[in-house]
Parts: sequence; C-alpha cells; structure tokens
Amino acid sequence: MPRGARKPSPTVHGIDLGTTYSCLAQVDGSGAAQVVPLLDGTATLPSVVLFVGPDDYVTGERARVLARAQPEDVCTLVKRRMGDSTWRFVSHGRSWSAPAVSSLVLRALVSETSFSAAGPVQDVVITVPAYFGDEERRATRLAGEYAGLTVLDVINEPTAAALAYGFARLDGGGPDGSPEEVALVYDLGGGTVDVAVVELADRRLAVVSTDGDHELGGADWDEKLAVHLSRAFLAAHPDAEDPLDDSAGGQALVLAAERAKRELSARDGVVVPVEHDGRRTDVPVTRAEFERLTAGLLDRTVELTRAAVAAARARGVDRIDRVLLVGGSTRMPAVAARLTAELGVPAEVHDPDLAVAKGAAVYGRKKQLERLLTDDLVTRGALRPGLDLEYAAPADVDAACARLGDAVGLTAAQVRRTVEIQVLNTVSRGFGVLALDRFGEPATVFLVHRDDRLPVAVRRSFGTVHDDQRVVTIRVVEQGGGAESPRPEDAKLIAEASIEDIPPGYPAGTEIQVVLRMGFDGILELTALHEGLTDRPLTVRVETGAAPSQADVARERAQVGRVRHRQD
Ligand code: AMP
Repeated sequence: MPRGARKPSPTVHGIDLGTTYSCLAQVDGSGAAQVVPLLDGTATLPSVVLFVGPDDYVTGERARVLARAQPEDVCTLVKRRMGDSTWRFVSHGRSWSAPAVSSLVLRALVSETSFSAAGPVQDVVITVPAYFGDEERRATRLAGEYAGLTVLDVINEPTAAALAYGFARLDGGGPDGSPEEVALVYDLGGGTVDVAVVELADRRLAVVSTDGDHELGGADWDEKLAVHLSRAFLAAHPDAEDPLDDSAGGQALVLAAERAKRELSARDGVVVPVEHDGRRTDVPVTRAEFERLTAGLLDRTVELTRAAVAAARARGVDRIDRVLLVGGSTRMPAVAARLTAELGVPAEVHDPDLAVAKGAAVYGRKKQLERLLTDDLVTRGALRPGLDLEYAAPADVDAACARLGDAVGLTAAQVRRTVEIQVLNTVSRGFGVLALDRFGEPATVFLVHRDDRLPVAVRRSFGTVHDDQRVVTIRVVEQGGGAESPRPEDAKLIAEASIEDIPPGYPAGTEIQVVLRMGFDGILELTALHEGLTDRPLTVRVETGAAPSQADVARERAQVGRVRHRQD
C-alpha cells in the first residue's frame, strides 16, 4: 500500500455519485454504515446543477425548481456523459466538462453534509456502475479531485450494494472465514436497470457478469400508468382534449402517475384525480391492475437478469445464493415477488436508495483501518514504510489488530476481517489485436474480454503472412460497441508498433508470440516476440482511455475553484 507523508484523516467517506441522486455515507462508532443527512434533513441530493451566473451555481431541489425559469442553464443526468471527452455544458459563457459538472455536485454534497459528518470530508470512495469503462472511471476520479477530495478508490455499485447488505459478513462467521457466496444485485432506478452477479470468495468481492438497459427504469412505469389514466379520462369525457397531447397536462399526469405508483407500493388501490381541459375524473387503480399494465416492463428486466445469470454460468458460477434489490423502483412489491419466483431465492430489499453509498462507506472503513494498521506497524518498526500489510509478520499484525480494535471499539477479528476485504475489478471492454483470418481478411482477435478479472495475462501465437517478411506490425484494438465484433471497422485502434529489421529467410507462418497483460490500474501491456528474434521482444504500453491534457485539467480545476455554491 503506497503511503504518503500526510497524516491520514480519521474517516473515509463513501459517495454514491448517482445519475439522478447523490448520497454520502460514513461508518459510525458502532460499526454501522449511516447516510449523512443534508442541511434540510433529507438523505439524497438531486444530481442537478443550475448555473445562476458565470461564478455561481445551485444544486439539488432548488436547482430543480429554478430550472423551470432557466431551462438552458440546468445540467441534469451528467453521469451519462462521463467518459465523453468531447461533451461540454455551456452556460453564462463558460464551458464545463462532465467531470467538472460532477465535481460541483460533489462539492455541494460535501458542504451540505459537513455539519453532520463525523469530521472533515476529505478522503472518499466513490461508486460507479460496473459497466463503466476506464475513461468513465478516470472521469469520476477527476470529478473528485476537482472537488478537492482525495479519491482513495472507485468501486462498482453492485459490489458496494453487496457490502451494504452484509455480504462480506464482517461480524465474524466461521473460524475458516466465510464460505463462498454468490449474490445477484438487481438495481432498478428511475431511468436505468443494472443487473450484476457478484461473487464473494474468502472476502474477495468481484463482479462476475453484468447486464442492463440504460433506457429502462421507474419512469417507464410512470408513463404506462399515465397512458392508462389518460384513456380513463377520455372514456369519461370523450369530447375533452387528451391531457397527454398538452405538454403541461402531460407533465402533470406523469407526476400524478408517479405519486400513485409510490402509493401502490404500500396499498392495494388508489384513486387518482385527473383534471384537464376544465373536466375532472377520479380514476380508481388497483395494484393488480397496475401490475398487469406494467408486466411487460418487468418481463424485460427479468430477461436481463436471465442473461446475467447465463453469463455467470458461462464463467463457471452456476448458483445464486442471495438476491439483493437496489434502487427506488425495487420498492414495487412485484419486483421482489417476480425475482424470488424466477431465481428461487428470497429477494432482499432494504434501504434500496442508500445501499450503494453505505457500501462505499463500509469499503471506506476498510481503507481507513488498513491505513491505521499500517501506520501502527510502521511506527513500531514491524513494517517497512511503503510496503503492504502482507509483508508484516502475522503475529505483529494480530497484535496491531487487537490494539486498533481496542481504540475503535471493534474486536481484533472484526478489524482483520474488514482490512482483508478485497474488491476486485474486471475488464470493462474487450482488447485484442488485428490479424488476418483463414481467408486472408483482416479481423480482430480478442485476447482480453469484458468481465475478465484483473489482473489478466493472455498468450496467443500468430504466424507471419509472407516468406521473408521483414516487418511485422502489431495493431492493438479496443472493443468499439457494446459487444465484441471481429470486423476491424467496429474496433478502436489504440496502439500500433512494429517488429522491424527481421533478417531474411523466415518462411510464412513463422511464430509471433503475443502476450497481452492488463494490471489493476487498467494499463495494458503487449509483448510480441518473433520466433527468430527472441532477444528482441517488442513491448507496447497503453494507458487505456484518453486522459485529458494537463493544461485542460489545470484550467478546469481553477474554474471549479472559482465558482460559488449558493445555498441562500
Ligand atoms: P433511484 O434512481 O434509485 O433513486 O430511483 C428512483 C425511482 O424509484 C423513481 O422512478 C421513483 O419513482 C421510484 N420509487 C421511489 N420510491 C418508490 C416506491 N415507494 N414505489 C415505487 N417506486 C418508487
């Protein structure tokens, strides 16, 4: 574990930087993860930024209200732009990248929670969707940096949810540690659905497979109900205008539908008053009716769930022990009932809006204890500065866990179990090389695939194409779309290098051995070795994902530093 000279801050906070809402959590004195409330007492901040001038912005609910008067100055759903280096939001003559806008959400979240937080919010763990690639993850880290935070790690949302649901069982378990467990995390929010299979083996949490639809969420349930309400209204008033044909009327109807939907999560029936065009009808809706109307939507999420389960099975993970529900829309009772029936395991729903932030706080706690433990061992001369905990003698680590446990109110075993949690990342896109297929046509050969666990190293042999071939050019490519495709035009070329000055005399088909490695940091290294030139391997290192230039980063950091968050 690399250590800086800086004194560590006492608490590492967890942040769910969400598409529609953001939330900050910490682990309290009793070891439980708690969401830190905002100034108005609510738990989540709408991820909305409204620029009220070149140097002033507001966020959250206020931004939403003011947005009606200044729609062109409001930025919403910025998470969907993370990783898109060309996207800018322009307002009051200033242009903002996605990390810069996100940093304003983070700054507001930190300033609003700082009164209730246990100590300053400085060191944080931020969550990202499991499908985020390197560019999106880097953009998230950058957002944290712009906000003046130290981002200790970026972890996957389903893994965080699994931690919040006590998946890693930090309170003990058997003497040999926890057995392996597999959870399916089903996250249905307002605008997206994400399904992930997460495996816990000896406190190592890893995403095995993911699936999802980023155009399907609670808003689609609202829309179905709104259409039903408008039909009922028109049946009662055939000569009236359809409320959905009018923008204000349509908006009001969708809002009424959303309210009714929430009520139907708690009750068997509601009566929705629909007023439009000077007429009014009370439309009774039962939960059963609502469920029939929206069954097709739920079916679609079940299809995605089946795909994630099948992908996990293809990777040798063929059982689901727990089903964890995340996201506000999983409050609809039909979701748990359907998933329980589908998977044969009772679906658990608990704090669905807050689980991700809480899990990030649990992981933050691990980071914090790890650091305190390392400091203790280094101070006592039991560990050389800069080395990982594994390099200390087990007896010294045991003693340090007991000391630290006494200081923070945990047992030595709890400290040990917490620091031993490992959250593993996976490859988010396939990587490979361009080669000629057996018909002599160029094709992409993928060596590293999406969801492969990091670090990975893959070896593959290719043959030269011509007799006396003097130069072999290696083209490293990244998967372009959502799925791997052999067509070269679907891939993104990320590096190109050649083995040159090959002496004559080697026939076509001479072996070129290629090794592709990817580390925890997402850095890709390719080595290519010509059969006759084993003393001259060609090595290419690629930092996957485009990094913004130093100048851009400095300019944006200054711009973010200048702008004021208005709470008045
Ligand atoms: P999230 O993005 O996770 O905050 O989820 C927001 C979505 O959850 C919105 O579509 C809400 O309408 C929906 N939601 C929140 N509470 C409930 C509830 N009690 N019943 C049904 N849907 C809900």
